[in-house]
Amino acid sequence: MPQVVLKVTSTKIEEMKAHYRSQTKATPANAVFAAKTSACTITAYRSGKVLFQGSRPEEEASKWGSPITSSAPSKKAGAGRHAYHPEESLFTSSHIGSDEAGTGDYFGPITVAAAYVTAEQVPQLKAIGVKDSKHLSDPQITELAKDIVQMKIPYSLLRLPNKRYNQWQRRGWSQGKMKTMLHHQALDKLLKKIAPVKPHGILIDQFSEPHVYQKHLKSENFTLQDNVYFMTKAESYSIAVAAASILARSAFVKAMNTLEFDTGLPIPKGASSKVDQAAAAVIEAYGEEKLEELAKVHFANTQKAKKLVRP
Ligand code: MN
Repeated sequence: MPQVVLKVTSTKIEEMKAHYRSQTKATPANAVFAAKTSACTITAYRSGKVLFQGSRPEEEASKWGSPITSSAPSKKAGAGRHAYHPEESLFTSSHIGSDEAGTGDYFGPITVAAAYVTAEQVPQLKAIGVKDSKHLSDPQITELAKDIVQMKIPYSLLRLPNKRYNQWQRRGWSQGKMKTMLHHQALDKLLKKIAPVKPHGILIDQFSEPHVYQKHLKSENFTLQDNVYFMTKAESYSIAVAAASILARSAFVKAMNTLEFDTGLPIPKGASSKVDQAAAAVIEAYGEEKLEELAKVHFANTQKAKKLVRP
C-alpha cells in the first residue's frame, strides 16, 4: 500500500488532530490520534512521525509538509522530491507550463505566463529554438515570443502593476503569495481558453514548496487545479514551461521599455547599484511617489536611492 511519512512538530500534530477531529478512528497504542479520509488513513505518533497510508497518501500529506519517506509507486519520490514531482512522460505529452519574470527586479511588473503545448507541438517548438530563457538574450526572447504567438499556442499572460504589488506587499503578502495567486489565475484563464480540452498535466516552475503554494491558495479560498505538478528548473525539461518563461520574460522586457519611454529616464533591470542611481534620478525628476508606480518599493534600493538624491 502506498505510504508517506512526515516528521512534524507537536504543535503541528495538535493542529492536525483538530483538523481531522470529525474523521477520527480508533487510536492505536503509541499514537496521538488516527483518522481516515477518502484518500488514506492518517496515524500520528508521539515521535512526531505521521504516517499516511492508502490509495492517494501524497494528496493528504502534502497539506502538512514534505515527506521523509514515500513508497508511492505512481510518482517519483527520490531524494528531495515531493509527491508533486512529474513523471518524465509529462514532458512529451500535451501539457500546460507556467513561469514568471520580474520578481528580482526593482523596477517593473511581475509577469506570469502559462502556455498549453500539445504533444505534436513539443518538437516544433524545440525546432524553432524554444528553450530555457536563461540561455537566451532579450532580443532572442522577443523574437521567440512572436513565433510562439504566431504558432497559435494557447497562452495566458498576467502583469502585476507595481501599484498593486506595493498595495499587496503592505497588506503583508509575501512575493510567494503574490506569485501563487498570479500562477493560479493564469492557469485558470488558460484552462477556460482550451476547454473542453484538458491537458495531461500542469507543470509550474517551482518557486515554493507545494504545501506552501496550497496554503496561500487556501488563504484566499482557492483550490489547486487537477493534475498540477511542481518542479524546480522546469523550463529545462518542459517545452511548455520554457514557452511560458519566454512569454513572461518578453512581457517584462516590453513593460520595462514602456517605463523608459514614459519617464524618459534609464530604467535598468535587476537590483544593483545602477538601479539605485536610476531610482534617485526618478525621485529628482518626479518625486518619491512616482516610485509607487514604477518599482517594488520595499526593496532596499528605495532607501539607497533616497541617500543619493541631490538636495
Ligand atoms: Mn521560474
